[in-house]
Order: sequence, then structure tokens, then C-alpha cells
Amino acid sequence: GDMLHPGTLAGRFPGLAQRVHGEPLAYLDNAASTHMPREVLDAMQAFEERSRANIHRGVHTLSERATAAYEQARARLEAFVGADARHEIVFTSGTTESLNLVAHGLSDAGIGAPLLRPGDEIVVSVLEHHANLVPWQAAARRCGARLLFLRPDREGRLHADDLARLLGPRTRVFAVTACANATGERPPYEALLALAEEAGALTVLDAAQAMAHEVPALAHLACDFMAFSGHKMYGPMGIGVLAGRRTALERLAPLRLGGDMVESVTETQASFAELPARLEGGTPNVAGAVGLAAAADFIDEVGRARIDAHVRALRSHAVAGLSALPGVSVLSPASVDSAIVSFTADGVHPHDLGTLLDARGIAVRTGHHCAQPLLDCLGVGPTTRASFAIYNSHEEVERLVDAVAPALEMLR
Ligand code: PMP
Repeated sequence: GDMLHPGTLAGRFPGLAQRVHGEPLAYLDNAASTHMPREVLDAMQAFEERSRANIHRGVHTLSERATAAYEQARARLEAFVGADARHEIVFTSGTTESLNLVAHGLSDAGIGAPLLRPGDEIVVSVLEHHANLVPWQAAARRCGARLLFLRPDREGRLHADDLARLLGPRTRVFAVTACANATGERPPYEALLALAEEAGALTVLDAAQAMAHEVPALAHLACDFMAFSGHKMYGPMGIGVLAGRRTALERLAPLRLGGDMVESVTETQASFAELPARLEGGTPNVAGAVGLAAAADFIDEVGRARIDAHVRALRSHAVAGLSALPGVSVLSPASVDSAIVSFTADGVHPHDLGTLLDARGIAVRTGHHCAQPLLDCLGVGPTTRASFAIYNSHEEVERLVDAVAPALEMLR
């Protein structure tokens, strides 16, 4: 109904109804973190007020309620990502922990022989956020494996034939993003993952920038591990998911050793619990999981296709408006499947531009966006990034473009 129209949705997000420096907030930093709708906040508060207790350990009523809430959230996320019987959902603190869990889990010798051996190869795309690069650097160092790079072309695009040339008998892992957070480029990850899987590699998808949008069902992807964060999909901070094939997750050494992830323990040895508990040591973020499940409900209620159509239209509008300004270059201008517009302006430092925009109530991100190798490879420095969500409007895009133009004049 009307309540779901993008123009009226903003009213469901309490965090958006405020003024910044006397101006109505135009929140255009959604690739960093989105705001949460009222129903997500309510679900978390209801859990804390009615069911707060530690899970899995107690026989008392609140502990049973908390356990049920946590496992219902897991089942909700399973459906949300389009998992099938081969898959398992592991809760983490976010994409960073999910990716560390995979890279560490394939290279750690703490509880058994790691999968990665000296001379093995790990292929990583250069579009990656540092969270999908630095853990692989550490894993390679730990195991004497080699890191190989799938580099983009000058427009920042990845190509399957480049990947085909990098894959070989020693390729053990291929890791790629579903959307580059620094440029908004949406690589052909379905084809890239399939190619890597054919070559016998374990495949890793960083879906942090994709989960609020249209993503193929996990069951239809050649994907062993998929990582994402709650706070980029209208959910809370401090909760995320590592979704994957059970056979692949079973190869991971746990990152967190301790309570709840063991089967039996003696003074000198431990045997480990089954998935997913095996990878979820310690007390989990139950309210976070509940909030994330509510965020999945919100996205499905609005519809991913509807969200995508809206944010793509906002991006096109912003790309057209910003590219028309003198000395402005938009990165990945042709990437249609994206909610992110990242740009540079000759002679202007993004930090100064971001500060002037903030004075007008407009929130954007500036800097390297945790993707320095990508910007180096493209030969650009820090950028200014606006990123859109379902609650943003075309009027806000106009405010952005109208504010950038005089700011550039003032700074030049
Ligand atoms: N990967 C990508 C593509 C991202 O955009 C981000 C967040 N900027 C991350 C990983 C890291 O996510 P988190 O900080 O939630 O762990």
C-alpha cells in the first residue's frame, strides 16, 4: 500500500527525522551503515524486555525463549539468503568477522591440519574492501601460500577471461565482492564464482553491499562462503552472517575457542560441537540476530526489486547531475546495478567537500573507503561517496548536486 511507497517510508525511520546544522538531514552514507526502521528497533527492545537470558545453557523459561528467538532468527536468515539443505547460517559480528573466520579457518593449525599448504594459491580481486584482502594476506603468510590478484580494467570492471588465466591446479580459494564499496562497481560475480568453482577452488563472496538488494539465491550461486553485515541492510550493528555450504564450513578451524562450541573437554583436549555452534563460541548477540531477522522481514515486505529500482534511479540521477559539474569525474559511471556513486573533483580534497556538505545537512563519506589498492590501481586518490537506500528521495539527490556545485567553487 501507500505506506510502502519510497517517499513515505522515511517516516518509519526515527533516526532520519532530525536536523543537522539546522538543515533537514539528507542521509547519503548508506553503504557505510543504513538506518533502522521502527519495527527493527521494536523487535530488539521486545526481546530485551521479555526474553533476555543466555541461550542453549538454561532450562528456565527465559533461556528457552531466548534460544527460540535466536534459532528463529537463524531460520529467517536461511530463507532470506535462499539457502537450501546443503547450507548453514553462522552468526558473526559482521562481514569482517565472517571473512576473518574463513581466511583464518583455512590457514590455522591450532586444532588440525589447515587446508592451505605451502605453494597453494589464493586469488583475490582488487575491488575488495580491506576486510576481504588483509585476512588473505595473513592466511598466505601463515601457510606459505601465494596471493594472486584479479585486476580490474581502467573502468574498474572485472572480466571472467582474466580470472580464467589466473586459475590453476594450485588455486584453493577465490574471493570477490558482490559490489565494490569504493566505486559502486557490480562485478559479474555469478560467472566468476562458477569459473573458480570449476577450477576446484573454494569460493568466497563478500555480499556486504548486496544483501539489501537483489541477490541470487545462495542455492543458485557457486558459492562456498558468503559474508554480510546487519547494519548495511536496515539492521543493527554488531551482527552479521557467514552463510555457506556445510561441507565448506566444516573445513574451517574455529576462530573463537571456548564455551558453547565444544562437545567435551578434558584438561588437555577438547572435541568440538557440530555446526553452527562449532563456529559460534561464546555468548552471541541475540538481540542483534533478532533485529537482523526483523530487517530481513522489512526488506521482503518492501521487496528487493522495489528497493533496487529506487536506488538505481537515485544513482542515475546523481551520476547525471554530478558528471555535469566542471572537473568532476564519477567512478564506474556505467555500473547500473548499484546504490553507490563515488566521485573525485579536480583540485578539491574530498574531506573539505564532505565538511561543507555536512554543514548543509548532507551526510556523505570521504576518503579511501577501506579499499586503497583499488583506488591505487585506478590511479585515483580519495573520493567522495554518496550511497542510497529505500528512504532517500530524488529531492535529496538534487540537494546534493546543488550543494556540491558551490562547494567546489568555494574550495578551488
Ligand atoms: N566488505 C564491504 C564490501 C564493505 O562495504 C564493508 C563495510 N564498509 C565491509 C566488507 C566490512 O563490513 P563490517 O565493517 O560490517 O565488518
